Amino acid sequence: MTEVSVAKEDKAATGELVVLKSVNKHFGALHVLQDIDLTIQRGEVVVVIGPSGSGKSTLCRTINRLETIDDGSITIDGKPLPAEGKELARLRADVGMVFQSFNLFAHKTVLENVTLGQVKVRKVEAKKAEEKARALLDRVGVGAQADKYPAQLSGGQQQRVAIARALAMDPKVMLFDEPTSALDPEMINEVLEVMKQLAEDGMTMIVVTHEMGFARSAANRVVFMADGRIVEEATPDQFFSNPRSDRAKDFLSKIL
Ligand code: ADP
Ligand code: MG
Repeated sequence: MTEVSVAKEDKAATGELVVLKSVNKHFGALHVLQDIDLTIQRGEVVVVIGPSGSGKSTLCRTINRLETIDDGSITIDGKPLPAEGKELARLRADVGMVFQSFNLFAHKTVLENVTLGQVKVRKVEAKKAEEKARALLDRVGVGAQADKYPAQLSGGQQQRVAIARALAMDPKVMLFDEPTSALDPEMINEVLEVMKQLAEDGMTMIVVTHEMGFARSAANRVVFMADGRIVEEATPDQFFSNPRSDRAKDFLSKIL
């Protein structure tokens, strides 16, 4: 398999990559994020779990500034999030995001989906961008689909293209917001396998998921959210065998 550089050369690098301090956000009267303190180390894989409506998606969206925050601070690699313009586009490239609903460009081929951002945001030469796109598509197992349009692919294939598209930007961190929730059951594993491989390659990842098998095998840390707060943080082993809070115990009793 072609080795496209992701975070491998950074594997030895350590230190704080994503830091949220006292982050608060409201939607009108709803206090959706309440005093969130969260630090993600380089190379760390953090799984965020919690009941529906607890603020997990909003948390992800604040990290690449799809949502603004009311107060507190967020830094990526020591820099505060830029407000707008080219700086913001670059931040969005640094923070790869994979959504539940694939979000590929429907009117572009698979290959175009993976080259476009490289050329526009990273200013990579077209030929280089295409080479890299093809290598990444091979890596996630959809190289043969390069010239098709998203609608011609299965959900699992589309989600793997979405991962390749984010990786093409050489992100510092990858955010996954329930990447397998919209997939037919038989396609979930092919996406989780790609994510596990990324984790093993040293990518820094924040993953919102209900896939507890993935959390157990790939996460360094589990963050449990409820009602806009981080209620509990622990290693997967600690969290699943001995949750401390009643909220977490209740949640686990319903899903396990
Ligand atoms: P989760 O991902 O944990 O299910 P979300 O972050 O999507 O939670 O949502 C948290 C709460 O914020 C929910 O009550 C949701 O209805 C509300 N919410 C999310 N986005 C918006 C928005 N754009 N405007 C108003 N309320 C929102
Ligand atoms: Mg959500």
